[in-house]
Amino acid sequence: MKIAVFSSKSYDRNFLEAANSEHELVFFEPRLTAATAPLADGFPAVCVFINDRLQAETLRQLADQGTRLIALRSAGFNNVDLAAAAELDLTVVRVPAYSPYAVAEHAVGLILMLNRKLNRAYNRVREDNFALEGLLGFDLHGATVGIVGTGKIGLCFAQIMNGFGCRLLAYDVYQNPDCLKLGIEYVTLPELLAQSDVASLHCPLMPETHHLINTETIGLLKPGMMLINTSRGGLIDAAAVIGGIKSGQIGYLGIDVYEQEEDLFFEDLSDTVIQDDTFQLLQSFPNVVVTAHQAFFTREALQNIAQTTIGNVSDFEAGRPCANQIEHR
Ligand code: NAD
Repeated sequence: MKIAVFSSKSYDRNFLEAANSEHELVFFEPRLTAATAPLADGFPAVCVFINDRLQAETLRQLADQGTRLIALRSAGFNNVDLAAAAELDLTVVRVPAYSPYAVAEHAVGLILMLNRKLNRAYNRVREDNFALEGLLGFDLHGATVGIVGTGKIGLCFAQIMNGFGCRLLAYDVYQNPDCLKLGIEYVTLPELLAQSDVASLHCPLMPETHHLINTETIGLLKPGMMLINTSRGGLIDAAAVIGGIKSGQIGYLGIDVYEQEEDLFFEDLSDTVIQDDTFQLLQSFPNVVVTAHQAFFTREALQNIAQTTIGNVSDFEAGRPCANQIEHR
């Protein structure tokens, strides 16, 4: 099958080519938008990533050009108008799990970096400044860690933090039996926010979870706590979080995702004046660490993403039922 691969970087090309033996892959660097959709003219399959925008207009254009399959290289699908895809008879497949370890481990990396100020320590030592003032951390052992969303990634994160000797709390609309076995206590979201020294978000972005962290919920936080978001930027209201950091309610912020990241992430903008004042203000705080949506970025995850994506396309082409198809509900 001919596949138009959008938002493709060298690593996408390398891993997809290694996993592929049966399809014709054509790589396009631009993101998929209504303006770039004509590149996929005549391609029955289009392969996209998280910052490609698959709104109704773009999907209609793709369908008119002969596309029948949208293959997401991601687990999250909040960037696809599923109702429009169903109406246009476009099949949408995804990679539901590729490495929950990758994302959970990155969340832990952000916690350690913020707590022990590893970024500042690294820079100091390189400049022969061996002073410890300003680097004081806290023991994670015994700290209360709240997990919002205990699916595949939340469970891995829980297992790691359990190893650190943390007290674990969770909030989810569904209780994961493996988390219960670990001794996690499920509580309400307000209880979790009030008790957690560290709160880490691992639920999907949906209308119900949009701006889960907002001015009101920030008011419930244990003062000086650490907030970690490796899930989706839209889970937190960045302007409200800036208020929380300034007031001291949020003592540390570690984010791998940002609501307006599509204009920034995955590109080298080091010679560009960034126009997003909220993002620049966030970056200016000493107790904030931002990474550019790299939590998924391990060798194992990229191998799994590539193999599952190629398998999804093969299933579709052969008319086999695909377990990774997203049904519109
Ligand atoms: P999953 O489907 O296994 O788990 C999601 C959990 O969230 C489920 O237990 C679900 O019940 C829960 N949930 C649903 N609605 C909720 C709500 N309203 N409140 C609280 N919990 C709710 O998904 P996963 O594989 O663990 O991935 C979680 C998220 O991580 C994805 O949706 C994606 O946005 C994000 N992610 C980020 C990266 C990255 O590189 N930063 C990579 C992969 C996934």
